Amino acid sequence: MAELRRNELMDFTGKIVLVTGASRGIGRVIARLFAENGGRVAVHYHQNEAAAQETLRSLRGKGHILAQADIADPVAVQKMVDAVVEKMGGLDIVVNNAGIHIEHPLTETSYEEWQSAWQHTIQTNLIGAANVIFCAAKQMIPRGGGRIVNVSSRGAFRGEPTGPAYGASKAGMNAMGQSLAKALAPHHIFVMTVAPGWVETEMAAKTLNGPDGDAVRSQSPLGRVAKPEEVAYTVLFLASAGAEFLTGAIVDVNGASYLRT
Ligand code: NAD
Repeated sequence: MAELRRNELMDFTGKIVLVTGASRGIGRVIARLFAENGGRVAVHYHQNEAAAQETLRSLRGKGHILAQADIADPVAVQKMVDAVVEKMGGLDIVVNNAGIHIEHPLTETSYEEWQSAWQHTIQTNLIGAANVIFCAAKQMIPRGGGRIVNVSSRGAFRGEPTGPAYGASKAGMNAMGQSLAKALAPHHIFVMTVAPGWVETEMAAKTLNGPDGDAVRSQSPLGRVAKPEEVAYTVLFLASAGAEFLTGAIVDVNGASYLRT
């Protein structure tokens, strides 16, 4: 893993940050980079408490906590956000990173499997993120504002032939972020989105280590996929002081593998 360095332009000292899905992958690295730059982090996880503890132990500084919830469960989300605010004394930044990708190619999928994939994916990636934003924004508004960064995907633009629910969930996330950027700006809550292409994580490992790995890497003229640090860096930039006017933006982090107009 590349070394995470302190960046004075991205000083999050005193900021309280909730990162969903931070027990591993991109979320873990986002949590580390915020902590490295002064933030106090609530490390959200679903089931793997041991991995979340590992993330927690790896964070620089003090005052970080764990926060458990099934993001697909609206009641659990409300309890989790309220607990973070109570334990940490507020909430300044939320990163909606938790997400799932279920393969469900139409030609090889039963109708039951098809419905299950759509329901789980939309409930987790889109409705879950919407509920986190609702609960967080209700806390941020009386406190004077905040920042929300959603982790979307290149698939929203390029298409996801074998996982159409995933592509749709991320396109929905993009549209939700744009709508809420407009709705919440008067409350000084700024909403941005990062759209990575392939990233070296466990979610992508099977494809990257399989027969299609080289073809995936060659989609970028850099001949590789992103490192989680590169996505994390963009998330911190969007959450940093001075980036307010990027509200509503969707920033591609895909190594020029897909250039949308
Ligand atoms: P990952 O599978 O390593 O991490 C996803 C995290 O989300 C895990 O910690 C998991 O526990 C959590 N999560 C999933 N369902 C949950 C639920 N119901 N409740 C609570 N937490 C839940 O994947 P990653 O690659 O680190 O992905 C992070 C984000 O980046 C995802 O939103 C993903 O869609 C997006 N993304 C990843 C890639 C890639 O190639 N890896 C590309 C584009 C976008």
